[in-house]
Amino acid sequence: MTRLRMFAAPLRYIQGPGALDALPGVLAPYGEHPLVVTDPYVRELLGARVAGVLSEAGLAPAVLELPGEITAAAADELAASAGAAGAGIVVGIGGGKALDAAKAVSLRLGLPVVTVPSVASNDSPTSAAIAMYDGAHRLVAVDRLPANPHAVVVDTALVAAAPVAFLRSGIGDAVAKKFEAAACRAGTGVTALGTRPLAIGSVLADACYDVLQASAVAGLAACERGAVDDALEAVVEAVVLLSGLGFENGGLSLAHSLTRGLMRARGAREAMHGEQVAWATLVQRVAEGAPAAEVAELRGFLVGVGLPTGLAQLGMPAPTAEEVRDIARITMTAPHLANLTVPATEELVAGAILAVEALG
Ligand SMILES: [Zn+2]
Repeated sequence: MTRLRMFAAPLRYIQGPGALDALPGVLAPYGEHPLVVTDPYVRELLGARVAGVLSEAGLAPAVLELPGEITAAAADELAASAGAAGAGIVVGIGGGKALDAAKAVSLRLGLPVVTVPSVASNDSPTSAAIAMYDGAHRLVAVDRLPANPHAVVVDTALVAAAPVAFLRSGIGDAVAKKFEAAACRAGTGVTALGTRPLAIGSVLADACYDVLQASAVAGLAACERGAVDDALEAVVEAVVLLSGLGFENGGLSLAHSLTRGLMRARGAREAMHGEQVAWATLVQRVAEGAPAAEVAELRGFLVGVGLPTGLAQLGMPAPTAEEVRDIARITMTAPHLANLTVPATEELVAGAILAVEALG
């Protein structure tokens, strides 16, 4: 079993301005009543547009709203209220919570799921992972679908219209993947699929990094203008598709492990996932003993796109030694720590955090 290796991906990935119009073609083979899962904000923003697109194609969706946090109880309730709708497929439309809710409902109903992100703030739309929280927004579990989403539909006109902070966060989530996949391959751990990685995970994660180097600044500028151009398209593909396939097939490492500690840290717990990961990527590079020039290059990239390179920028000014130790201690509870070239210890991680603080 341990010698098996696996690759996983969505069946289809559709991206571009107006991609929402492709949704009926994706859904139609699964019956007239797709189950749409969204949140109140996105329903207000896009509900009429989605309803129009679907009804034009003869589809009559049932619509469910996730009212608050994505908890097991909330997912159970949504799935129960959908039971009688006779849906053949679930569609999540919105931000991370709405997509996770759609995945959680599809898991409970045994139906395929399509993800339609309204922002590109992380790579979860392509992934089989479902982040489950408690009522106080503490991560309690990462559930998994039996397969990746049936399709991912990314309307870049929506991404360009959303606040630029979301795309910036997505870049922070994506920039880690090259280094995490490399650490997983060099270490002894496994990917999200539970197997040692195939080469393709690193190939995709490396490509993700290269696209960000070439296009992140221009892509963010386009988003700020609300414009869809080639740079924005390239960055969105890197943030959603290359990053998602890169991590699921290439493996996570210390950078994502550190988000466990940050989720409990003063101030930093409020930062977006991708902001946390951007900073944590620097910490990982220092912890694994990367050459100073490479650390400086990564730091320069993060500064250039406006991502955090210190705890103060994450909302935790003047961290005490004890607070740094707490972040390191909770980081040790993450499942990706074998994916590192050096043994991950609390001392190593705390030291790397302090070294990154010293850079700024
Ligand atoms: Zn992530």
